[in-house]
Amino acid sequence: MQRTGVGAESGGFGQRIMELADRLAHWSESSDGLTCTYLSPAHRTVAAQIRDLMREAGLTTEIDTVANVIGRYPAADSAAPALIVASHYDTVRNAGRYDGRLGVLTALILAEHLGRLGRKLPFHLDVIAFSEEEGVRFSSSFLGSSAVAGRFDAKLLERRDAQGVTLAAAMAEAGLDATKIPALARRRDGLVGYLEVHIEQGPVLLEEGLPVGIVSAITGSVRSMVTITGTAGHAGTVPMARRHDAAAAAAELVLYVEKRCAQAPTLVGTVGKLVVPNGAINIIPGRCELTLDVRSGDDATRDAAMSDILSEMERITARRGVTIDSQEVQRTAAVQCSARLQKVLADAVVGAGVKPRHLPSGAGHDAMMFSGLTDVAMLFVRCGNGGVSHSPREIITAEDADVAARVMLDAVLRLAETS
Ligand SMILES: [Zn+2]
Repeated sequence: MQRTGVGAESGGFGQRIMELADRLAHWSESSDGLTCTYLSPAHRTVAAQIRDLMREAGLTTEIDTVANVIGRYPAADSAAPALIVASHYDTVRNAGRYDGRLGVLTALILAEHLGRLGRKLPFHLDVIAFSEEEGVRFSSSFLGSSAVAGRFDAKLLERRDAQGVTLAAAMAEAGLDATKIPALARRRDGLVGYLEVHIEQGPVLLEEGLPVGIVSAITGSVRSMVTITGTAGHAGTVPMARRHDAAAAAAELVLYVEKRCAQAPTLVGTVGKLVVPNGAINIIPGRCELTLDVRSGDDATRDAAMSDILSEMERITARRGVTIDSQEVQRTAAVQCSARLQKVLADAVVGAGVKPRHLPSGAGHDAMMFSGLTDVAMLFVRCGNGGVSHSPREIITAEDADVAARVMLDAVLRLAETS
């Protein structure tokens, strides 16, 4: 069981990952902070940069028709299946520089190192930088990974961004042919598995003093857009007992969501947007719009909460004489990570001298798209600053990035031995 090269450049992987993350953070849509959303000029430049880095690493590269950047470290046998090691390169607005990109760069470093060693694997190693995961521009997440996983929803092509540009038009403008999306879908028998490194985006590893952890499951979510319609009126002349105040009804609903979602350990519920359209200080709100996001590591727990929330909406409707319309806009099932791949990662974590800690992911990840198609697993990396992410304060250390890269290298070599 010789694992040539593990630890051969101890410290070097982490430093290089940090430098490359700094380099990619240079391209942004905003003059202050990092924003890189789907097919913006910054996004297209970053794609070209990643492609060039892959090329320099000796990979065969391509930017596919949804702008995923793919680099292959080929197996000796061209008919071999592929192991995908991936994450995303788009960002939220005013983002940190490691969310998504840490996983892309770790995968790149891994392939680069194997190439330097001349070590051939019994499978192709496909390093993929997915073009879109955050759902910022078109309010739909996983555009890149859903295409590769064969789950792209063609209806999304008509979705518009804030400027009214459809996804189809944005793609055409970037020279991407949407009719070729179905051809991107990978086949089950062409895959060995899917691995993703990601920052934890939470405080668990930080609080427990661990550089990395193994993801056990990724929580599923239900998202709804809720519209409450009451009766607008004069704030001075309508008596309190005669009002049908849409904002007051919304307030009751928000508090109910908070109370109900505190009743199970992995259950969380959030009203992230709450708007009184055309509201004014002297008008009783006639309409209120809000978003609802409910998640759990267990679908039954989440669905029970959603069902209670819908019942509460009916009670509020009856009590207040308002109408409540709730439209579900997204539903993703919780994903259990593969026991086999978790074991491989855990063995590699132990090999790196770290206690193996399994933890669920409260955030969605590209890995979810591949569940059901192939075995998936994820390695989380400790997030500093209290675990903050989706913020310029998001931080990791070079030492932790180094541990992650060494664990991934070891895990891939362990998979090669058993494939
Ligand atoms: Zn991410």
